[in-house]
Amino acid sequence: KSGFISIIGRPNVGKSTFLNRVIGQKIAIMSDKPQTTRNKIQGVLTREDSQMIFIDTPGIHKPKHKLGEFMIKVSKNTLREVDLIMFMVNAEQGIGKGDEFILELLEGTKTPVFLVVNKIDQIHPDELITIIETYKVKYPFAEIVPISALQGNNVDHLLGTIEKYL
Ligand code: GDP
Ligand code: MG
Repeated sequence: KSGFISIIGRPNVGKSTFLNRVIGQKIAIMSDKPQTTRNKIQGVLTREDSQMIFIDTPGIHKPKHKLGEFMIKVSKNTLREVDLIMFMVNAEQGIGKGDEFILELLEGTKTPVFLVVNKIDQIHPDELITIIETYKVKYPFAEIVPISALQGNNVDHLLGTIEKYL
């Protein structure tokens, strides 16, 4: 099993921290899946039964200026080329104003989207339960997974869940 995974989310939610934790190596791609130059490889995780290729999809993150119809279409097409999307938010802030652009892009995509709630070490467990229950009702994410990229909590569980979708 192998697949391309795009990690999207506002600055400072912990995307690089997550990648640094899980990426052991940057190696040549073994996957035979087609890939376009729009996606930049950030790292490859090779597990016993799978290979996860984490990529950056420029243009997906919150734009400085309002994007035109064409750019939105390009971004949506780029998201269609990956096998899974990790949409990362900070547990303290949750899904906020700055995420509207991303939510709009994700709307109607056939690619599975995981909501990854990071920095759970910074909130009370009861608060986390409330956040997860609220988002489960409100949004159609394939999975909602809480983690602490910094401390490593639940990261293995997240990787195992991703594997099931590849
Ligand atoms: P990015 O902009 O999304 O790539 O975010 P970074 O990975 O650069 O992280 C931004 C800041 O958040 C850094 O100071 C990280 O150490 C911190 N950070 C990342 N993950 C966690 C976490 O799980 N818990 C806590 N407490 N801090 C985190
Ligand atoms: Mg970063």
